[in-house]
Amino acid sequence: MKRIATVIPVLFCRFQSSSGFDKRSKKSKGFLKNGVIVDLVKPEDHDEGHGDLMDIIYEDIVPAKQPWSRVIAADEVLKITDLEGQQAVDFLCYDAKDLTDRYSTMNTVKVQGNVYVGLDTVLYSDSGTALMTVVEDTVGRHDTIYGCCSTANNRLRYGVETTETCYANFEKALAQHGLGKDAIVSNVNWFMSVPVLADGSAGIAQAELLPGSYVSLRANTEVLAVLSNCPEMHNPCNGYNPTPIKVTVLRE
Ligand SMILES: [Zn+2]
Repeated sequence: MKRIATVIPVLFCRFQSSSGFDKRSKKSKGFLKNGVIVDLVKPEDHDEGHGDLMDIIYEDIVPAKQPWSRVIAADEVLKITDLEGQQAVDFLCYDAKDLTDRYSTMNTVKVQGNVYVGLDTVLYSDSGTALMTVVEDTVGRHDTIYGCCSTANNRLRYGVETTETCYANFEKALAQHGLGKDAIVSNVNWFMSVPVLADGSAGIAQAELLPGSYVSLRANTEVLAVLSNCPEMHNPCNGYNPTPIKVTVLRE
């Protein structure tokens, strides 16, 4: 497998903003392994999070390689837990009152002035509606520029024909809500590291996140949340071993 080895310097210069990044960077220990960045989150960094203060109204395990979706009411919190570690989760959200108003990478990146998603990031829609806000994050940095894996991606990048992809999972999940593949837009990749170098080059880095890493999103308004527990086997985003995740919805 070809791994991206051109991403090394950015690990040490990426946390420059005054947003939550500086604080989060102290939680992560990064090191190099076989010429690839390895991000390591210590298990002691994980506390109980919102579970201490809120009621769990829904909890389920999403098996490896499978999609999931649910309407999340305003002020409810969706917590996504990487149970076994190093599992990418591709994510989209929509204004539940107008499903044509979709998550916008462009608006999200422009408003926060940073290409990485993390604590305090607001996920904006095409119209500028605040859909969800990251309120807990044990990882520190997630991707929103690299999109989801697809049959086309795998053919173009790896020369293989695959059917298990996040794109196909999104199609399945969206169909349950009356949406077609035209609703699939550039998404958030939770637990996936795509460092961007000063010269603009970017690639998926190996991120050895330990079991129990999680991210929590508070819904700013009623949203449709859709995710794909990524089945990709041709790059390091899942450690070449897709595993189950846990989704929890909490309410005060
Ligand atoms: Zn994928």
